[in-house]
Amino acid sequence: MSGAARQVLPVGAVSTCVHCGCDDLHACAGGCAWARVDRDLGVGVCTCCTDKVMVAHWEKRALYAAEVTRG
Ligand SMILES: [Zn+2]
Ligand SMILES: [Zn+2]
Repeated sequence: MSGAARQVLPVGAVSTCVHCGCDDLHACAGGCAWARVDRDLGVGVCTCCTDKVMVAHWEKRALYAAEVTRG
């Protein structure tokens, strides 16, 4: 999907890494950032978890979440 207007998340919503479980409020030890993140779905892959497997997992998770939250 591209070009569609993005929803605004509720205040306090955070995104969670699909691999290590860190989130916006609880970064990995030493710090991390989002390598991939979907703010609408609340899932991402942080810079500690950027191998291909994890990115593929994130993409699947994002697609699954899009199915669940569609509408
Ligand atoms: Zn991570
Ligand atoms: Zn992290």
